[in-house]
Amino acid sequence: MIRVWQGDITTFDVCAVVNAANRSLLGGGGVDGAIHRAAGPGLLEECRKLGGCETGSAKITGGHDLKARHVIHAVGPVWHGGGQGEAALLASCYRTAMDLAEAAGCRSVAFPAISTGVYGYPSEAAAEVAVDTLSAWLEGREGWEVTLVAFDTRTAEILGKALER
Ligand code: ADP
Repeated sequence: MIRVWQGDITTFDVCAVVNAANRSLLGGGGVDGAIHRAAGPGLLEECRKLGGCETGSAKITGGHDLKARHVIHAVGPVWHGGGQGEAALLASCYRTAMDLAEAAGCRSVAFPAISTGVYGYPSEAAAEVAVDTLSAWLEGREGWEVTLVAFDTRTAEILGKALER
């Protein structure tokens, strides 16, 4: 099951929250900064040991001071107009994050709108990639609760529309 929720992902009580990280995995602005602030310095300490992450992939850590047990740091693509494999890379982020959540024993995951902030991916197109990729991944699996978290009303509407298609 996929649902849309508007709010701050750092407050979510789920097994894993996904972070829209950058390749260094050493923190940044936007949702990344918010997650690191809420999780405390232990998260950065753990991230330092991971040696970064490729675009389109993800790595998992503990949740530290968050309610969530795990943080999955996914590195979305920077938008360059759509001709540089951005959609495939974004889809790969969502799939890899779900694979990691499943391996960690999770059944509830919350995602921010990866790549749609500083990385400039158009929100409508990103929402369709998120919904299509997650729906395909969830096919044949049961008992999952996947939340697409919108920080603002506009993103919530866009995600809702992508879900209703
Ligand atoms: P990226 O670099 O992947 O574009 P950003 O953090 O700049 O990542 O933005 C990704 C999305 O996360 C944007 O839609 C932004 O509004 C949203 N966002 C920022 N802070 C939070 C938060 N605390 N909870 C949920 N979403 C957030």
